[in-house]
Amino acid sequence: MLNPSDEIKSRLDIVEVIRQYVPLKPAGVNFLARCPFHNEKTASFTVSPVKQVWHCFGCGRGGDLFSFVMEIEKLTFVEALRLLAPRAGVVLKQETGPAISLRNRLLDILNSAASFYHKILVNDHSGQIAQNYVTERNISQDIINDWQLGYAPDSWDDLILFLKQKGFTGKEIILAGLAIDRNEGGRSYNRFRGRLMFPIREVNGNVIGFTGRLLPEFEKRDLGQGKYVNSPQTLVYDKGKVLFGLDKAKLAIREENLAIVVEGQMDCLTAHQFGFKNVVASSGTALTIEQAAILKRYTNRVAFAFDMDAAGRLALERGSEQAFAFELEALAVSLPSGKDPDECIRLDINGWKNSLSSAEPVMQYFLKEVLAAHDENSASGRRAIVQKFLPRIARIVNIVEKNFWLKKLSQAVDVGEQFLYEAMNTAKKSKVLDKISVIEKTQTPIKTAPRSRDEILSEQLVALLIAFPDLIPVISPYVASEQVVGQSNQLLYRQLVVYYNKSVAHVQDKNSVFEYGDFRTWLNGQGFTAGDIQELDRLAILIEKNFSDITAEEANSAIKGIQTELRRSYLNRRMKAVAKLIGELESQNSSTERDERLDVLLREFNDLAEEVRQLSSVVE
Ligand SMILES: [Zn+2]
Repeated sequence: MLNPSDEIKSRLDIVEVIRQYVPLKPAGVNFLARCPFHNEKTASFTVSPVKQVWHCFGCGRGGDLFSFVMEIEKLTFVEALRLLAPRAGVVLKQETGPAISLRNRLLDILNSAASFYHKILVNDHSGQIAQNYVTERNISQDIINDWQLGYAPDSWDDLILFLKQKGFTGKEIILAGLAIDRNEGGRSYNRFRGRLMFPIREVNGNVIGFTGRLLPEFEKRDLGQGKYVNSPQTLVYDKGKVLFGLDKAKLAIREENLAIVVEGQMDCLTAHQFGFKNVVASSGTALTIEQAAILKRYTNRVAFAFDMDAAGRLALERGSEQAFAFELEALAVSLPSGKDPDECIRLDINGWKNSLSSAEPVMQYFLKEVLAAHDENSASGRRAIVQKFLPRIARIVNIVEKNFWLKKLSQAVDVGEQFLYEAMNTAKKSKVLDKISVIEKTQTPIKTAPRSRDEILSEQLVALLIAFPDLIPVISPYVASEQVVGQSNQLLYRQLVVYYNKSVAHVQDKNSVFEYGDFRTWLNGQGFTAGDIQELDRLAILIEKNFSDITAEEANSAIKGIQTELRRSYLNRRMKAVAKLIGELESQNSSTERDERLDVLLREFNDLAEEVRQLSSVVE
């Protein structure tokens, strides 16, 4: 018996469903379109009718029929189930009914909690202590009312009792993230106690979570809980997918075609209080890919006004990468030293205004930084500058902008543009398998670090094995999983081998038995994350796209080539490690034990060197 979601998947064609939202064009064995989830000019959104999965090579999103409908309709899994079931002619059992309204129940709870906290801050004598605090921090009454700030009294159960009176169950209150479950059977208690409460809203204004700032009076006795506590991840709240203040800032962001992103919620409130309405907070992290995608709906320009410390610098670096992935223009705001935006706006509003008007493109900011750190007139300085800045240029998606920064770098270090351009590309080029290097061009731009050649080869290996599963037993005895580079490549390689041996090896007609969908389902059952499976889909589509005409024989020889290269890299890595150990032992005083170990290591080193030599003579 299939469960309802598998039943629906087996009856609906992913191409037909997606086509109702996105105009798909046939391209080889797949279908292509411009991605509905990120802004792009060339189509990189791919649907595979054979595998019944989709993947976007621009923004990295992907999945099955359900994940597409959830993403495009902004639905939960259960809601998507309900939407698709009638179309597939599948009747859902009754028990899925209440779950559909759970989201609405949680929103009701959170909105009730926000007004509960707000009333206490504004009207109740128990809120006086928090009222003193906001006065001290100069938060205006307008801001308190507009943003519905509140106070969670130092109580274990007042909110819980209030919500239960309104008809919500203890379980729902826990699911909303407002109560913590004491061990089984015991009573639950308030998550937020003695805290100034900032409601977090989705873009249309619904409260989906809270941040609670512990009042200074309670800081001393606080046991283990931080100064700031956030709602946990719930059905309605995911920290990385929401921008604090966007519900209030969205119109100003659109009007000014600029979003100013700060780290903290206080920074955001203060900015609004002083009339800077296009400010949102990323809430203590760098801008995430989801947050960048949301901003792209309102503007093309983002200015990062982060603290001027190491963490802020890192957040600028990471955040700007996400911005580039969506072709958002990214600006860096340099605040007067040592201040966060909150302080800066309050104490030195002209300094704040000046730093906004002198915000510069993030790339220029990084270029200045690297030029300040190295001497562009010395050969070693030039090399360091190129090494540090070139990878940043490589990550820019927009070609015009990419060329602009290549020119800038070329001028700064007095090295020809053409040379820099080649250096940028040869770092990624495949020598042995030219045909396979096509894969690199379709790589997703959000990958942060530039990937090593071994990692690219490993990815190709996994992709080829997915396409030609009967090569798994041929190759697996020769490639140990530690020779495969890249965490998800290694993981997938290992699982392909395990799955093959378990489910396929003992059957006669092997290719008819290795079903991609079965492997995917099996991984799911093994506790693999959605991210791992998404990576698998990406590889599977990649191989279909580039090698729909490749023969088993070609695949076989390609895999052999990759195997040799990975083996050689592995041998080199091992040789380096062994050489290091030998060096360490040689510096020690002689003893029987040392001499024996040294002997073993020297022999291993010679064996490794011999194998490298043999491999080289085979390939060249
Ligand atoms: Zn996309």
